[in-house]
Amino acid sequence: MDKLIFVSGGVLSGLGKGVAASSLGALLEARGLSVRMVKCDPYINVDAGTMSPYQHGEVYVTDDGAETDLDLGNYARFTRSSLSRANSMTTGQIYKEVINKEREGRFLGRCVQVIPHITDEIKSRIQGITRGDPDVDVAIVEIGGTVGDIESIPFLEAARQLIHEYGRNSAISVHLTLIPAVAGGELKTKPTQHSVKAMQEMGIQPDILICRAPVMLDEATRRKIALFTNVEFDAVFSSYDVDTTIYEIPLIFHSQKLDQVVLNKMGVESRHANLAPWISMMDKFRSRQGKVRIGIAGKYMELHDAYKSVYEALFHAGMENEVEVELVKVDSSRLEENIEPEAALGESAEGGAVHGILVPGGFGQRGINGMVKAAAWARDNKVPYFGICLGMQIMVIEWGRNVLGWEDADSSEFDEDTKHPVISLLAEQVNVKDYGGTMRLGASKTVAEPESRIYNAYGTTEIWERHRHRYEFSNKYREEMAGTGLKLAAFTPDGGLVECVEWPDHPWGVGVQFHPEFKSKPTQASPLFRDFIAAAKERMLFTGGSLKIPTGHADAEV
Ligand code: GLN
Repeated sequence: MDKLIFVSGGVLSGLGKGVAASSLGALLEARGLSVRMVKCDPYINVDAGTMSPYQHGEVYVTDDGAETDLDLGNYARFTRSSLSRANSMTTGQIYKEVINKEREGRFLGRCVQVIPHITDEIKSRIQGITRGDPDVDVAIVEIGGTVGDIESIPFLEAARQLIHEYGRNSAISVHLTLIPAVAGGELKTKPTQHSVKAMQEMGIQPDILICRAPVMLDEATRRKIALFTNVEFDAVFSSYDVDTTIYEIPLIFHSQKLDQVVLNKMGVESRHANLAPWISMMDKFRSRQGKVRIGIAGKYMELHDAYKSVYEALFHAGMENEVEVELVKVDSSRLEENIEPEAALGESAEGGAVHGILVPGGFGQRGINGMVKAAAWARDNKVPYFGICLGMQIMVIEWGRNVLGWEDADSSEFDEDTKHPVISLLAEQVNVKDYGGTMRLGASKTVAEPESRIYNAYGTTEIWERHRHRYEFSNKYREEMAGTGLKLAAFTPDGGLVECVEWPDHPWGVGVQFHPEFKSKPTQASPLFRDFIAAAKERMLFTGGSLKIPTGHADAEV
């Protein structure tokens, strides 16, 4: 099979195109198809690695070390699609490639143009996904931006050509639009009509419409949309606001027969959908009791997307532990002021201190001392602590300062002249200044010590997780750190680098140099997140957290 599904969007950005594309991917997988997800990003950056988390949200890292758009994280959470450099392309990459070829003389002196040269490059990358791997049945290609944007035009044009070349039963267009409600709640279809017209002007007739609206569309509205857009009535779907979780969306789409209609249009016969993992996940979601409060002491707190995968992984771990997770976000630079961590970390909606602290990844000096303060507080007060990448480095700095008594213990990222660089660059990196190319990036193997929390979490000594950092635990301090009780709990296979540290005599204090959040799924939480939330839940129960009365009503709370 060699089928393509293009997912585009109209009217507004931010309608949840990534979640819609991923949910469709999940449904096709539930029917036994092998799916690959692809993101086309119209921006000119070559990758997301150098973009500010404030502007663009987190950088999602793939196994092969590509720094991509956070939409790939959605794909990873909803589907089993392998994700690598090839699954994400930007305008910048496409132009860079075409210009390189032009410089090498590969166009034989011809004039190099958007059509066909840019579009050909896009097409060959998309086709490479399915044709390069005989096991792949369908590629779902999400085109970033909204129809009508200047930047998206080459991608939509490439989609048009591929739909024409493959034929409409092998390549289809799924278009996501908005049906706003005006005062009085009346649903308005006009923006959707215009959006489909814009697609038709690009030469693409959408086969399927997914309409975002506050409520489920009634039949009359769907008929009206079908009439104005040349889309069949059965192919107009309703994506309404859910008050549960976005992870219910595959089930909602399935109940409207989205997967069936897509398969019919592509002439594919498949087995019935096996949605058992999604159904049991929703059962866990509904049986959550009580609320654990997790303090996040990080740098980019205003923008939820900046730590998207971390927040999602906490949510997955909550479902796995059948407990709600309330995020208490604290800008760590606030902790640097003369404020006690108890106060800042106790400011949850319901009041009361947090049951666990997570320090996520980050770059640069701002807020570091606040994170150290939060870690010290968690260690002293036996509050579960989870350090990810920078968060592990913070544990090491805190140990150096407060246990070994080196006031200036620091990472050489923050203080180049410290006498105690407990975190530092590897010797071979010291002279490399080229941002974006010098990091330890992508998946690598970690070997855990058998008697450790990290081993307990994974149930194995061999762990594969992804990295994205420059600095490392300095090996020259191994002896003093371990000698005073800090457990060095996992290493690279050659033993050369420390990958995990754990606090002794503490309910759960674990820091890892890698990023486990990238591999967490709603149907299978990351093992470390799962155990962190389990420890926080224990603290919540121990300190008399609010437990729901199990009446079966989701909102009944004491
Ligand atoms: N800034 C740190 C480093 O480069 C941590 C990076 C991270 O947390 N991803 O090593």
